[in-house]
Amino acid sequence: MYDHIKNQDPELFEAMKKEGERQMEGVELIPSENYVSEAVLEACGSILTNKYSEGYPGKRYYGGQENIDVIENLAIERAKELFGAEHANVQPYSGSPANTAIYFALLEFGDTVMGLKLDHGGHITHGLPIAFSGKAYNFIQYGVNEETGYLDMDEVYEMAKEQRPKMIVAGFTAYPRDIDWKRFKEIADEVGAISMADISHTAGLIAGGVLESPVPYFDVVMTTTHKTLRGPRGAIIMCKEKFAKDIDRAVFPGLQGGPHEHAIAGKAIAFKEALQPEFKEYALQIKKNAHHLAEELKKRGFKLVSDGTDTHLILADLTNKDISGKLAQNALDAVGITLNKNTIPNDPRSPFDPSGIRMGTPAVTTRGMREGEMEKIAEWMDRAIQNSEDQNNLNSIKEEVEAMCHQFPVPGIKI
Ligand SMILES: *Cc1c(COP(=O)(O)O)cnc(C)c1O
Repeated sequence: MYDHIKNQDPELFEAMKKEGERQMEGVELIPSENYVSEAVLEACGSILTNKYSEGYPGKRYYGGQENIDVIENLAIERAKELFGAEHANVQPYSGSPANTAIYFALLEFGDTVMGLKLDHGGHITHGLPIAFSGKAYNFIQYGVNEETGYLDMDEVYEMAKEQRPKMIVAGFTAYPRDIDWKRFKEIADEVGAISMADISHTAGLIAGGVLESPVPYFDVVMTTTHKTLRGPRGAIIMCKEKFAKDIDRAVFPGLQGGPHEHAIAGKAIAFKEALQPEFKEYALQIKKNAHHLAEELKKRGFKLVSDGTDTHLILADLTNKDISGKLAQNALDAVGITLNKNTIPNDPRSPFDPSGIRMGTPAVTTRGMREGEMEKIAEWMDRAIQNSEDQNNLNSIKEEVEAMCHQFPVPGIKI
């Protein structure tokens, strides 16, 4: 594999090869990660990276667009079909620029916007004070109920009535439960706010029909394409027709220059894959696996925020386990189980060493793992966390993890 890189740049090749081994031999539980298909990989590494195509299909600023327009139109039409959207812009480089473009299109600097608190599962682009979103707009933040871990829609309603935001963002990066999109939309309508849904994490589950979609209700819906949706790194913005012009102008020339057509080709392929019946099975199995992993962890004394999951994502609160999120992440890294430390709602500890860990099942599901494997993973996690400083313990778990992983191939990785 990668013969040209190997010959031309052995130093870089070595790191790439090791990363391939890491991806192949470990259990990937980071809920925002996945393994794309060989076809998506081919598109991302293709000659399409050579072409400049500022503008939109039929309205470009450079010549030679006859093939690029076909590719971008395929991505647009498939995105619209997959989600039932009136309009789709497939050019955003990634999720953060997509959110920035939405704000830039529909808000004035300083406008009031409502988003979910970061330590309750919101994203940095939803008003982190040191981020662009937090500096350019007046973000105010709703939270989850401390006892139940569920979103508090009454709080959302009260806050919206009092603060009269210009936009309400419903978006979640570490929230394990279903969202009541209809209620969000009703609240936004009542206070005259634009409704914006950020489905970056759950887009694959929504496309696969196992979670409800905000697209019929919301003014604007965006998603990254590289998480549960299983496409290349990137994002898309969907909206009602009346916002289409503003959104397109904000993406280009408002915020971005030339679109990355190799990534857009990858998006078109991923959307086609997501339109196949097998994708529904994948989406359903992600949910089943997450539910099963959650139950197996609970059996072993793990406390889960909201006591479980409706999605691909699980947030464990380790305060009863005598280990911090960071040390748990390190112990699990040592056995080849990759996840991330995470704050829990109202975390008493710092974000650099919080009380929780966040995990999810998209990547392991893509590899073909099912309920039986989830049970093994819970067992290994428990053993690693119980004796996190015993190197022999960690080594023996790592061997078991690797042996299992070798039975589940990853597209594009040959060892
Ligand atoms: C991942 C994510 C993003 C940002 O995506 P990047 O591609 O990393 O910039 C935005 N919003 C939410 C809710 C996310 O989970």
